Amino acid sequence: MEQSPPKFLCDEMLQRLGRWLRAAGYDTRIAAEGESDYELLQHALREERLLITRDRGLIEHRRAPGTVILLRADNLEACAEELSRQVAIEWQFSPFTRCMVCNAALQEARPKQLSVLPLAKREFIDAAYFCPSCQQIFWEGSHVRRMRTHLQEWHERFSHH
Ligand SMILES: [Zn+2]
Repeated sequence: MEQSPPKFLCDEMLQRLGRWLRAAGYDTRIAAEGESDYELLQHALREERLLITRDRGLIEHRRAPGTVILLRADNLEACAEELSRQVAIEWQFSPFTRCMVCNAALQEARPKQLSVLPLAKREFIDAAYFCPSCQQIFWEGSHVRRMRTHLQEWHERFSHH
């Protein structure tokens, strides 16, 4: 049986990493401001998420093994690398299928949803995605292309082949 992909919960310090996991297509929650260690751990256990943190205190909890992933690195690239060593992350798992803002599954945008964008912009959009939860629109422009390139790079450097 194929294993279901890991789900994540990133602590507040690792918001950027969390957004990149979403970009790669992983179901990733980002901790709300002020959530305590205990709440985070409960949350992760309840939803079967791996809790990614830089907080050493969390790893010492008796329920941490198998759930808490401690990162020591302090910049984004190094965190991605360190995480990839501990969990089999496919950075090309399913790019741009999740909302970077709220984590909901994206849909292909319909013309009506694109009507909020300026016409000049719409003409150059090949594909666009719509978030049914927060109404955000993402489209294949230079920003998304840059992110795709970045994911490809991480995939080559860090993913387990
Ligand atoms: Zn959203």
